[in-house]
Amino acid sequence: MPEELRVTIDGKRCSGRRGQTILEVAEENGIWIPTLCYDPRMAPYGACRLCLVEVEGARALMPACHAEITPDMVVRTENKRINSIRRTVIELLLSDHPVDCMTCESAGSCRLQDLAYNYGVKESSFKGETHSYHLLDDNPLIERDLDKCILCGRCVRICEEVVGAGVYGFVARGFDSIVSTPYDHPLEESPCLFCGQCVSTCPVGALTSKLSKGKGRPWELKQTDTVCPYCGVGCTLTLWTRDNEVVNVTAPVDKGVNRGNLCIKGRFGWQYISSSERLKYPMIRGKDGKLRKATWEKAISTVAERLTEIVKENGPDAVCGLASARCTNEENYLFQKFMRAVVGTNNVDHCARL
Ligand code: SF4
Ligand code: SF4
Ligand code: SF4
Repeated sequence: MPEELRVTIDGKRCSGRRGQTILEVAEENGIWIPTLCYDPRMAPYGACRLCLVEVEGARALMPACHAEITPDMVVRTENKRINSIRRTVIELLLSDHPVDCMTCESAGSCRLQDLAYNYGVKESSFKGETHSYHLLDDNPLIERDLDKCILCGRCVRICEEVVGAGVYGFVARGFDSIVSTPYDHPLEESPCLFCGQCVSTCPVGALTSKLSKGKGRPWELKQTDTVCPYCGVGCTLTLWTRDNEVVNVTAPVDKGVNRGNLCIKGRFGWQYISSSERLKYPMIRGKDGKLRKATWEKAISTVAERLTEIVKENGPDAVCGLASARCTNEENYLFQKFMRAVVGTNNVDHCARL
């Protein structure tokens, strides 16, 4: 068990553990420190300099996301000097940013927008050259708008550190730096798994989900936490709904076994819920080969009759059962019991092994 340390942050006595950063201890004690490049799913990076804080006895300001607490440390997270530096950082970011918040897909969930609001930055006082890139819209799921990229490196790091795909990297230097794929190829021609982890961490509107585009602002949507039904990992999801229709899926970083991480199925595989092609009732194929709507009673009795006929004519091993990972353990237990005790075969398998 790491040693417990006492520190003072903004005059509040706080306790933390040796090895924790100032930011972690502040957050655990309800003290807000602004960040842009920080995401608890990855190692601290210290690039955006927004989390700089004053530590008594230290010569320079320290990045709260990187600096570990020491015994009896005294920290100030806000004062005139710190706030002036934060405003300058925000202004520098806005100096090469389209600031099209009215139509930006991320308005309402954009960290840069929130920080400009918090620190009263209406526009940048740094005027000069700006970039204008093409919108990268080369796949069905993820849109990339490099004009909005603030080069925080979160997408690069999550894809490398958490996903292990290493799709993105920084290209060029200085003012011309951008985030790109190998040889600037489309995402579909890269090792991308389309898990959307990069979308989930992008703090601005540079990486967005195409499936949710134009479907509502965060404040218009209802959030409901649930569990992903696709596999046994059981990731925690947040469903964003409008008029009872799912329009986005995210994952909270502070809950569940997945802590904000999802695979492609959990993050993007929800459109079937409102699909007009979704099967909502049983259907039986007639002798003419056409499928027709049936009642559950009729469908179940048809299955029972056909299974009985097959077993009678060819024996129980002529039947096999494939269970679903989307059923509960109890349902799958009952299914194998039915196959063994009622049908009389051990031909049972499960789609999770495929
Ligand atoms: S979708 Fe996943 S694999 Fe593809 S670039 Fe983003 S994080 Fe990497
Ligand atoms: S695309 Fe988003 S996450 Fe990636 S570096 Fe740019 S702002 Fe950061
Ligand atoms: S998000 Fe992916 S890994 Fe998580 S439970 Fe769903 S299918 Fe499984």
